[in-house]
Amino acid sequence: MEKNLFTLIPNVNEVLEDENIVRLLDTMPRKMVIDSIREEMDILRDRIRRKEFGEREVLENISSLNKRIYDRIIEKKRFNLRKVVNGTGVVIHTNLGRSLLNKEIIRNIEETVTNYSNLEYDLESGSRGSRYSHLEDILAEITGSESAMVVNNNAAAVMLVLSTLAKDKEVIVSRGELIEIGGSFRIPDVMEQSGARLVAVGTTNKTHIWDYETAIGEDTGALLKVHTSNYRILGFTSSVDIDELDKLKKQYGIPIVEDLGSGVLVDLSKYGLEYEPTVQESIRKGVDVVTFSGDKLLGGPQAGIIVGKKKYIDAMKKNPLTRAFRVDKFTITALETILRYYLDEDSAIEKIPTLRMLTMPIDDIRSMAEELLDKIEECGFDSRLRVSLEESYSEVGGGSLPLEQLPTVCVVLSLNGMSIQSFEDKLRGYTIPIITRLYRDKIYIDARTLRREEFPIIVEGIGFALENIKECNL
Ligand SMILES: *Cc1c(COP(=O)(O)O)cnc(C)c1O
Repeated sequence: MEKNLFTLIPNVNEVLEDENIVRLLDTMPRKMVIDSIREEMDILRDRIRRKEFGEREVLENISSLNKRIYDRIIEKKRFNLRKVVNGTGVVIHTNLGRSLLNKEIIRNIEETVTNYSNLEYDLESGSRGSRYSHLEDILAEITGSESAMVVNNNAAAVMLVLSTLAKDKEVIVSRGELIEIGGSFRIPDVMEQSGARLVAVGTTNKTHIWDYETAIGEDTGALLKVHTSNYRILGFTSSVDIDELDKLKKQYGIPIVEDLGSGVLVDLSKYGLEYEPTVQESIRKGVDVVTFSGDKLLGGPQAGIIVGKKKYIDAMKKNPLTRAFRVDKFTITALETILRYYLDEDSAIEKIPTLRMLTMPIDDIRSMAEELLDKIEECGFDSRLRVSLEESYSEVGGGSLPLEQLPTVCVVLSLNGMSIQSFEDKLRGYTIPIITRLYRDKIYIDARTLRREEFPIIVEGIGFALENIKECNL
């Protein structure tokens, strides 16, 4: 009896003749296809062996075998890191890849990485050059600094700066600025790793210039300012301005280092956002070394940018950590493209997705939301789904401008007779995952962080979540 059941299972060659599986062989390695077939069959054999399946179950299982094999192969074909739709309205979403790059940047990257390049080659002298040279002049021009260099991310930038300027020395920081960013970046920990000794001064809410002055001693290597990117202390507060620190610097000859975090290069208050201190302003006020991220408000690739006095930057280039933190040609090309946009502010706002989303007029957001609503309604999904528009707020994200509430318009989905949580799970589990905000039994899809080309994906995803369409053509 048992044996009979095993003989019902088709052999590998039979499955390989299925037209959908044959089509997959065009794009998938044959071995991966055959492995997938074997894996499904092994599961079936196992269930027969353990007597979980009788003849009826085996036949049922076999009738859907090709579909499951197909799904299994598609699953293997899928990249682990892949695109998702960001319906959360958080523009610089650290978990969703922070800033988006545009196609022009990708074309430029293609040009430099599919060819040899002058990455570390000086074309004038025909000898070895520096990878940092490609970004030095443009960063200096935009920020008004003497010199510049770029490392892997801002955490590495801070570490490199402290290690170069203050290894085995003391660094004075206000207690109000001992921040933690995204779990793993904490100023006291980075300080310790860099070999510098933290001297915390003042209190959480108030630090005065004399707090810094009293702490200055023979071992002081730097005065550190840290931008409290992701929170604000409100109420009875005071912190010390760069202008004031500049006086101490002149008196005692100690450099000022500032970790700006977001590193904005344009005055965002012109576009209705809260004022965020710009890199140019820090340099103008006398900060010796400023560090900031490449993929936060700058809107570029992951990178840590260091601008400031030439003598300090030159010393950093000689620090062995620089070799460990170095950026590759992908990053350099992407950054050079982005920085060129900044030579003309209008083109920066237009071409850098992060800035475009942050400054998008509410009327544009509303018409995007209306278009998406129409597309969903056109599909005539079943009566369980209700779709409407609601005004709400988007967030900047990325630990930038934490108090900023950007007025926006969301497409709101509510459901009748189906769990909203499982609907959200399904949207997230769709072939192209759709990440939304679930709030008070409704799903919010914020139009600010969407692009029009994503509308069909969202409509299909909703169909998938309602189980209104078939997953594949089998
Ligand atoms: C975000 C941030 C960092 C870390 O930057 P990464 O580029 O994520 O490494 C460090 N300091 C401040 C103030 C930040 O806002």
